[in-house]
Amino acid sequence: MPTPPTLHVAIIGSGPAGCYLAQSLLRALPGATLTLFDRLVSPFGLIRYGIAADHQHTKAITRQFERLFQSGAVRFAGDIEVGRDVSLEELRAQFDAVVLATGLSADRSLGVPGSELTGVVGSGEVTRILNAHPDEPAQLPELGSDIVIVGAGNVALDLLRFLVKSADDFTDSDVAEIALHEYASAPASRITLVSRSSAASSKGDPQMIKELAALERASYATPDPVSPDPTTGLDRTATSRVVAIGELVSPLRPQHPGPRVTLRFGLTPQRVLGSDRVEAVEFSDERGTVTVPATAVLTAIGFDESVTEGVTGTAFSPSSDTGRVAPGLYRTGWAKRGPRGAIPENRACAKSVAEELVADLDSGAIDPTSTKLGFDGLSQQLRDRAISYAEWLVLDAHEREQAPAHRVRRKLPNHTHMANIARGLAATYSA
Ligand SMILES: Cc1cc2nc3c(=O)[nH]c(=O)nc-3n(C[C@H](O)[C@H](O)[C@H](O)COP(=O)(O)OP(=O)(O)OC[C@H]3O[C@@H](n4cnc5c(N)ncnc54)[C@H](O)[C@@H]3O)c2cc1C
Repeated sequence: MPTPPTLHVAIIGSGPAGCYLAQSLLRALPGATLTLFDRLVSPFGLIRYGIAADHQHTKAITRQFERLFQSGAVRFAGDIEVGRDVSLEELRAQFDAVVLATGLSADRSLGVPGSELTGVVGSGEVTRILNAHPDEPAQLPELGSDIVIVGAGNVALDLLRFLVKSADDFTDSDVAEIALHEYASAPASRITLVSRSSAASSKGDPQMIKELAALERASYATPDPVSPDPTTGLDRTATSRVVAIGELVSPLRPQHPGPRVTLRFGLTPQRVLGSDRVEAVEFSDERGTVTVPATAVLTAIGFDESVTEGVTGTAFSPSSDTGRVAPGLYRTGWAKRGPRGAIPENRACAKSVAEELVADLDSGAIDPTSTKLGFDGLSQQLRDRAISYAEWLVLDAHEREQAPAHRVRRKLPNHTHMANIARGLAATYSA
């Protein structure tokens, strides 16, 4: 019996979705070769560049993904942007199946008059700066004394936590030092966090609200009713959220140094006011209009779905059902479901996409042939360019060695320097 041809799978994007998919495929198809491409030098997507720098316990999920690469069963090919360095068609010519796990990263606009004014900044941009993303500048945009955060989900709470903390509160993080010290030298005096929803149905995780309450920083208040009876008609999470918000704004909580934070619920943004840059935001509720002065507005209202999907060049439309774009072409994670859901949701998503791929293999819709060579079939130039997992480990070790005092790493903020360190072409990087 001739040996059946090896199945070659390319996964584009090495964030949680791509890594979970590789895990599922390894289990289901142990003989397959898997290559995880990423446009960045580093693997792990938003685990490195979205999750807050002071939440290292969440970032530690990379340890289970590291095992994928260490086992040798999965190849990392960093610094390869699909659609720029190699086309989707070229990949499909060499791989039996290609899976898009490219995420979605454009901040959703507030979509009200004045949204484009200077000083209105998306949370994706800010969190990338705080995580030293190579696409972003080292400095934060000018924030000033009166910051309004629009949104009350977990990303909004991540931003609030950054803004209320002092520079000394980032021990054991990998926060971007320039941005931190710039903000710490002129921190906000007043922060207003505004949610369109009521306190009970706002999206923040109760644990994140408790974390704010436990910090010996900032004072909190709200003029809005949180809930007179938190135990009536609410599910468990909403009840704990209401209790946590009640404790945060309680007069019994000591007033700590730091900004005065006002929480507002049930207010819808109507327009951003200002001439050269933002000066205030106008909100409305059933009682009328509320104007909140602002030197900067941070929007944490999610990511844009009305984008063209970069790799396929087609309009993005999320699917909660199938990950199959065509036999042999799939999508998973935020590239499939749209930009919502925490890391664990990408696991179940990846498992179902892996099942679809396996079903297509079983039905013959994917038919591995010996003419497809996977990574080895790509041009020599591309293969030489790809940052391997071993090369990423060189950069990883460098970043840990260069960590400033009380930090776990110093992330290099420049793509070319990152690639040079990883490839052993430069020994040090100085900003
Ligand atoms: C600011 C922020 C904070 C968050 N905090 C938490 C948290 O604390 N806990 C939690 O559970 N979840 C958190 N999440 C949600 C979590 O990050 C997502 O659920 C998860 O990252 C989505 O995974 P993904 O792989 O689909 O996308 P991503 O993580 O975005 O990964 C996509 C990858 O694809 C690569 N890529 C894109 N285009 C190309 C291309 N053309 N060629 C090659 N590579 C490409 C990107 O470089 C990236 O590495 C947070 C999200 C954000 C935005």
